[in-house]
This record gives sequence, C-alpha cells and structure tokens, in this order.
Amino acid sequence: MANLNIDSIKARTFDAIVVGSGMSGGWAAKELTDKGLKTLLVERGRNVVHNHDYPTTNLRPWEFAHGGKVPLDVQTANPIASRCYVFKEDAMHFVVKDHEHPYVQEKPFDWIRGYQVGGKSLLWARQTQRWSPYDFEGPARDGFAVDWPIRYQDLAPWYSYVEKFAGISGHRDGLAELPDGEFLPGFPLNAVEDHFRQQVKKHYAGRHVISARCAHLSKPQPIHYEQGRGQCQNRVLCQRGCPFGGYFSANSSTIPWAMKSGHLTLLPDQVVQTVLYDEHKQRASGIRVVDAHTKATTEYYAPILFVNAGALNTNLLLLNSTSHRFPAGLGNDSGVLGKYVAFHNYSAKIGAVHEGFKDLTTDGRNPAGGGYLPRFRNVFKQETDFLRGYATSFGASRGLVQPPTGLGASLNQQLERPALGPWTVYAGMMGETIPKETNYVRLDPHRKDEWGMPLLSVSVDYDANDAKMKQDFFAQLSEMFAKAGFANIQTHDTGQAPGLDIHEMGGVRMGRDPRTSLLNQWNQLHACPNVYVTDGACMTSTSTQNPSLTYMALTARAVDHAVREAKKQSA
Ligand SMILES: Cc1cc2nc3c(=O)[nH]c(=O)nc-3n(C[C@H](O)[C@H](O)[C@H](O)COP(=O)(O)OP(=O)(O)OC[C@H]3O[C@@H](n4cnc5c(N)ncnc54)[C@H](O)[C@@H]3O)c2cc1C
Ligand code: SF4
Repeated sequence: MANLNIDSIKARTFDAIVVGSGMSGGWAAKELTDKGLKTLLVERGRNVVHNHDYPTTNLRPWEFAHGGKVPLDVQTANPIASRCYVFKEDAMHFVVKDHEHPYVQEKPFDWIRGYQVGGKSLLWARQTQRWSPYDFEGPARDGFAVDWPIRYQDLAPWYSYVEKFAGISGHRDGLAELPDGEFLPGFPLNAVEDHFRQQVKKHYAGRHVISARCAHLSKPQPIHYEQGRGQCQNRVLCQRGCPFGGYFSANSSTIPWAMKSGHLTLLPDQVVQTVLYDEHKQRASGIRVVDAHTKATTEYYAPILFVNAGALNTNLLLLNSTSHRFPAGLGNDSGVLGKYVAFHNYSAKIGAVHEGFKDLTTDGRNPAGGGYLPRFRNVFKQETDFLRGYATSFGASRGLVQPPTGLGASLNQQLERPALGPWTVYAGMMGETIPKETNYVRLDPHRKDEWGMPLLSVSVDYDANDAKMKQDFFAQLSEMFAKAGFANIQTHDTGQAPGLDIHEMGGVRMGRDPRTSLLNQWNQLHACPNVYVTDGACMTSTSTQNPSLTYMALTARAVDHAVREAKKQSA
C-alpha cells in the first residue's frame, strides 16, 4: 500500500505545473518543455485540438442555421456574452455562457471568457504592439500606481523572442512611443486610410497613422512551417480557429510545439481550486484540482508553478489558496491581492464619411483591420489635465447602398457591380485607466460554484480621469477628421461597462516593494518565490497598447529565470 502511494505521488509529480492553457499559459508550457522540464498543463475547459475542433472553420455563410446570427433566446439568456462581438453563430461555442460560470457584479462589469484549451487566444483580434519605455516609466513619473520593477530594455529581447516565434506583421515605423519589432511584412492601408495618414502627418507633429500590427503570418518563416502553420489567406474568419494556423493561437502554435517535445502532459477538464502551500518547506508544493465532470479531487506536485488562469481567474485562484501562513490568499502579505485592477477604456467611438475616392474601393480583406494611431497625449511630458493617454484604431470602408435583391440577371448584375455608398470612416479610443485600490475583485463570502470555488465578486468602475480623457478623444479626433476633409462627424459614447475591452489587468501586480505589490521583477510572488504569475494579473499599469504580446514576453522571460534558478539550486 505504502509503495502504491509513493508510485501514485510520483506519477503526479512534475518538474513544473502551469495553470491555464491560454495565451500566456501556452507560452509557459512551450518554454518549460523546450528547456527539458516535465511539465503539467492544467486547463479547466475542454480540449480544443488545432484543426480537429474548429467545427465552423470551413462553413459557408448559407451553411449556418441562423445566417451567422445568434438566436434571440440565446441572446436573452446571455446578455453579457452577447455584448462581445465574437459571440456570433460561428464562434459562440468558444465563449463562456452567462449561466455556466456566474460571478458577482458589485458594479457592472462584462467579464468575457473562453474556458477551453487555448483560452481566449482562439478568439482574440490579434493586435500586437510592444509597450514603449514611456509606458513602463509612466507610474514612476506621475506617481499613480507603483513603479514597475522592470523597464522596456528588460523586456525588449523577450519581445523579439516571442515575435519571431508567433509571427507578427507590421511596418518599421521608427516611433519612440511604439517601438518596432521583428516584423513579417505589414498589411497595407487602403486609399482613404492612407489619405488620413497623410493629412495627420501634414497637420500634426508627433501624431502618426500607421498600419495596425497583428499576429498573422503574412510571410511565414521556417520556424512557422516547423510549427505546422502556413501563410495567412486573409479570410478574416479567425475567431472560428484557422485551418492554416495563419494567426497565432496557443492551439496552433505553443501547445502543439510543447507536445512535440515529449515533455508535456496536458490535462483538460480539470479546475484548479487551490495552490498548495507546504508550511514546513515554506514554498508552494502543487495544486488541488477538481474534475470538471466527476468533481473528484486530485493533487499534483511540482517545485515550479506558473499561474496563467487569465487575469481575474488568477486573482480568484490565489485568493482561494489560503493556508496558515497565508490566511488572506497566497503571497498576500501586503493585503493588495485583488486590488488595483484596471482595464482599457473602449467606450468612445467616432464616425464620419468621406465623399471623395468614389472611383476606388477595397478588394479582399485586411486581417490587421486597418490603421492605428499610437498614443500622442502625455507621452514625453504631462500636457493635459488628465493622466496618461489613448491609442486609436482607425478604419475606412465602403458599404452597399442597399443589399442585393431580386433574381436572375438583375441579381447577377448587382453582385458583380454592387452600388457602393460613400467611404465611411471610424475610430475607436483605447484609453489607459489608472489602477486604484477601489477597483478590486474579492471572493464572495457566501456563494460557491459547482466546483467548490467561491464566486468572484467584481467592483471595477471608470473615474473622472477616464471621463476627461474621453472628452479629449472626441475633441481631438473630431478636429483631425475635419482636417482630413471628413464630413458628418458623429461622436458616440457607447456607455459600455468595463470588461468588454477584454483587457482586464492587475490584482497581483509587480512592484519593487513587497509592502505594496505581490510580484517581483521576475514575476515571482515576493513571499512565495516558486510561484510565478505572468498573465494580465501581474500588470502594474495598463498602457494603451493591446496587452497580450507583453504577457507572452513576460512569460518567456520568467520561465528563463525560473529554470536558471532551478539549475543554480541543483548545482
Ligand atoms: C474578442 C477578443 C478580442 C481580443 N483582442 C485582443 C487583441 O487584439 N490584442 C490583444 O493583445 N488581446 C486581445 N484580447 C485579449 C486576449 O485574448 C487576452 O489578453 C489573452 O488571451 C489573455 O491570456 P491569458 O493567458 O491571460 O488568458 P486566457 O487566454 O483567457 O487563458 C486562460 C486559461 O485559463 C483557464 N482557467 C481559468 N481558470 C482556471 C482554473 N481555475 N483552473 C484551470 N484552468 C483555468 C481558462 O479556461 C483559459 O483557458 C482579445 C480577447 C477577445 C476575447
Ligand atoms: S485571416 Fe488568416 S489567420 Fe484569419 S482565418 Fe484567414 S487565413 Fe486564417
């Protein structure tokens, strides 16, 4: 019996455990297995195998039972998920339904999740920009949030490292506020987007319209073919899962790569309930998981743990990992675990038309989605009455005057030579929000889910800074649109709750001082250094750029550190 026990424990003991198989967990698994570590990757959702489990990927529009839309009863039952633009007939199977995983909204918060192998990396819009030196210096400069314990130079080589493997397309724009990366060829702007670029350049020093940078293989390199991925075909049906592996996802890239190493054990359908703490050894020893279907519990052990459950779920897991040493959650000596949650303010849009360029239209699709204006407010110095700034997405297109109607020759003619309206242009704000103690998540003291986890209670809101920034966006973009000759300029405050940006961050922030932060410069818990957190939970501030590239780079850097430390200890 004793031997059986020892054998069973041995079978459940690994060199490293990674919790969560999404964007960042996939990278942790890849890096750990690349370095020869026997790694367990635990995922609460079902397995989604690249190219086997993309049921809609090759469906044509008329093959969808509801024409691609979501039936009304499903919308009504899922008000939160329905607010997300990928919750459509072709991809809704990758989005968590409201009733499946409830949470508590102390204030309105749309929590969009993807519980499956690959997490939200299947669904993302693939926008990938590096942060700049000014982003990492922001909190130190204006004194809001704590200072990052790292600077851009610490992360730059790791940005290069993940960009080469993931495949990022973009142009080398040479901007201090948006450093260039290791780019595959960029996608072009269309004629009206390029017109806006030229007009902005003419009228404003320090403002730039560039092609959006995105995680698509515009020109695959040998490293991408080695992953089994191929050229992006510009279908722009990515949220279904791409049969070509044309965009980066954990499913098409990091997880199969880690599998190939022979060092990975992937465990889907297992909810990690708590990280185990060994009071005697004063370190985390493993995890306790609950089987998603049978509800049976099992423990797994490893000397290195990476928690990559997706920002708020990582908060939930650490808060739920209590012990004699850490009664308020793992590593939570400072009491700031769950606090200083922030997000991106996506609630401001602006639209207009351009009456020119009537002889032109677009042909084909642009996976990058159009143009991007890096932040131009308060970059080099504080110049407005609000803190930080916003980046802007920009696009232009021509729509049909009316949908084709009728039959036969007339329908044919409308399809071949569609009557197009004027160019419409739009821009969207991507505003940085300031992490505050009053924006927090915590465990609901009363309610648990069916896997025995307390419900997460979310209290996150906008503030006066966000309101001022929004007004500035409306004023500046209206002026820029007018200067570019756009007409009928309409601003739109969407009034959306935080969360729909799907860039929630913080709660387990990095910092120099253990009294005000949870993680050190290598993403280790100050108070329990064999636990690493490298998803959005670790973010000290939010910048304006899309965050996932930074999570990936932080993850690769942290694994490198973990393995170097482990080697030192065993030498
Ligand atoms: C529609 C959409 C568009 C987006 N566009 C962009 C974009 O353009 N650019 C960008 O940078 N980002 C974008 N994002 C955000 C991006 O997807 C996330 O930043 C990224 O996926 C986060 O990676 P992660 O590893 O932290 O979390 P996820 O990718 O969400 O992975 C977390 C995984 O952990 C699992 N998990 C959670 N709890 C547990 C538990 N207790 N036990 C076991 N497993 C658990 C989950 O099931 C999930 O698989 C977008 C997201 C969406 C949905
Ligand atoms: S745009 Fe590219 S990555 Fe997206 S589905 Fe098409 S081929 Fe795949």
